[in-house]
Amino acid sequence: MEYMDEQSIDPNLICSICHKALKDPICTPCDHTYGRECITQWLNQNDNSSCPMCLKKPMSINELTQASRPLRNILDQIRVRCTLCAQTGLQRGDFVDHINKICPKSVVPCQAADIKCPWKGPRDELQSHISTCVFEPLRPVLYSLIAGNRQLIDQVQKHNNEIKKLIQQMHQLQQSKHISQWNTRLQVNISHPKKRNLNEVGKTDNRKWI
Ligand SMILES: [Zn+2]
Ligand SMILES: [Zn+2]
Ligand SMILES: [Zn+2]
Ligand SMILES: [Zn+2]
Repeated sequence: MEYMDEQSIDPNLICSICHKALKDPICTPCDHTYGRECITQWLNQNDNSSCPMCLKKPMSINELTQASRPLRNILDQIRVRCTLCAQTGLQRGDFVDHINKICPKSVVPCQAADIKCPWKGPRDELQSHISTCVFEPLRPVLYSLIAGNRQLIDQVQKHNNEIKKLIQQMHQLQQSKHISQWNTRLQVNISHPKKRNLNEVGKTDNRKWI
């Protein structure tokens, strides 16, 4: 997209950061207007937390407000030219629609893209492609194959999830088995020293009696 007569655009409609016609205009508390992207970028830069025109007042992104509807309407009416199909006299506000729905040179997919036709090309070649597209006539067959394939993928995914759960449970079981083994060893270790102590006590006692 390019502006048809950029020089003639009202200076009030020019963003003073990028010096182009305002896009998605945003107002500051000090009543200056910038394109949303430009002012957001400016404020996000270090030490630039003020309006680029005033420079004095600190300002945050939260204080920005959308410009008035009349201003946005005027900006939407700026005349532009499509650089793809060279159509002139388009309104800037209609440009996205032009590209998505009308422009004969914008790239579109085949209507059989959902059944895997890989064709992509300019909109004005779509009709001639469709007349020779090998995917579209096979739609019923391909559609059921793809649907069946999707079901299989879902089933595999379910099974994978179940396997993961089982592995987790197995790990938990192994861990609890280790813990119980460790507990028994610990108990044995605790009970044995007591026995030894008793024996030692007995020995010393014996010595005393001797
Ligand atoms: Zn700008
Ligand atoms: Zn300002
Ligand atoms: Zn176009
Ligand atoms: Zn096709």
